[in-house]
Amino acid sequence: MTERLRPDVAIIGGGTAGCAAALALRKRGLSVVLMDKGYCGAGASGVNFGGVRRQGRSLVELPLATRSRAIWDRLPELVGEDGEFRATGHVKLARSDADMAVLETYARNAAEWGLDLKLIGPNAVRDDYPWLGRKVVGASLCLDDGQANPRLVGPAFARAARRAGADIRELTRVEAASFDGETFDVRAAGGLVVTSRWLINVAGAWAGQVADWFGDGAPVQTLSPNMVVTEPLPFFIDRSIGVCGGDIYVRQVDRGNVVFGGGAGWGDIELERSRPLTATTEASMAKLIDLIPALRGALVIRSWSGLDGEMPDHIPVIGASLTIPRLLHAFGFSGHGFQLGPAVGEVLSELIVDGETPTDIKAFALARFR
Ligand SMILES: Cc1cc2nc3c(=O)[nH]c(=O)nc-3n(C[C@H](O)[C@H](O)[C@H](O)COP(=O)(O)OP(=O)(O)OC[C@H]3O[C@@H](n4cnc5c(N)ncnc54)[C@H](O)[C@@H]3O)c2cc1C
Repeated sequence: MTERLRPDVAIIGGGTAGCAAALALRKRGLSVVLMDKGYCGAGASGVNFGGVRRQGRSLVELPLATRSRAIWDRLPELVGEDGEFRATGHVKLARSDADMAVLETYARNAAEWGLDLKLIGPNAVRDDYPWLGRKVVGASLCLDDGQANPRLVGPAFARAARRAGADIRELTRVEAASFDGETFDVRAAGGLVVTSRWLINVAGAWAGQVADWFGDGAPVQTLSPNMVVTEPLPFFIDRSIGVCGGDIYVRQVDRGNVVFGGGAGWGDIELERSRPLTATTEASMAKLIDLIPALRGALVIRSWSGLDGEMPDHIPVIGASLTIPRLLHAFGFSGHGFQLGPAVGEVLSELIVDGETPTDIKAFALARFR
């Protein structure tokens, strides 16, 4: 049986970005139908490392990331829970003098974009973090960065959007969408037909397929980072840790488990499957022990991967379609869109309601690939 809905805005994808957009649009008074083929927040938004970090981002992402960082502090008032967000600080480690030079240059450049990083020399890094291995020669600290529980954040945004009046449809796969010059016609499995003036494509790793339906071909590749977690251990890693080059990253959650990642797993968007690779996991374990020798012998209890969209220049596409009026895209977050999600939702709502956003998103235009 066909069910017809006529909201102002249809959203394809219930990750953090889509659910945050649904909430922001409801707050501005627009009616919203959001469809996800699975469960909200169960895609990349739910399986990521949990890093909520600005340090190390492309400089052009910093205005959006800084806006998002402010929202992370306000999660309890915005969505009713904190998603276990903790501003633990993020330390980026140098394992050579060349690494340290990279960190120094980044810190200088990031300061011009308002990001305050503290450089730490070889002696101080050992004093501050005595559990680090001998290869570490220095670091850069962003005190304001942090970490959160990805399992909690997307669903919390979805529940808040639903409470605010958004019509959230889970287990609702969008199979086709078209534009007749006036309105969008979005068809989902089970006979749901959504007719709307606006359409938002936040379909994560599958967003390139949705863009293709409208002739907005974008060079999105699939990215599947390899993730691992240990048994609960006595707590001592009090910051989120990364390295220059990004080949290993680690954090410890309050209940003691050490979560770490690095390298690529395997993923396929046609099969809708991802999995970690043993060789990558073993390589990560070796790097982890180099970095934090006390973790030698820790028992790994689970490894996993996920599916995200990756752009050739590793920054997302956010903004208007090149071909269709009132079609907006936000995808290709290239393995670091969890931190950005809350602000992406607000920006999308502003583009619809105000026709513009105060946040600088010029660098994310789809036109850069034409
Ligand atoms: C393993 C891993 C580790 C990561 N670590 C970090 C990190 O530490 N920090 C960070 O900032 N970022 C990290 N990221 C990246 C981050 O998770 C993503 O960039 C971000 O979550 C993307 O959010 P999203 O809402 O755009 O997409 P998603 O969360 O993927 O949501 C997209 C949704 O669209 C739905 N969908 C797709 N097609 C359709 C359709 N046809 N019909 C209906 N629904 C559809 C999917 O079911 C999915 O739920 C990581 C990613 C992965 C995979």
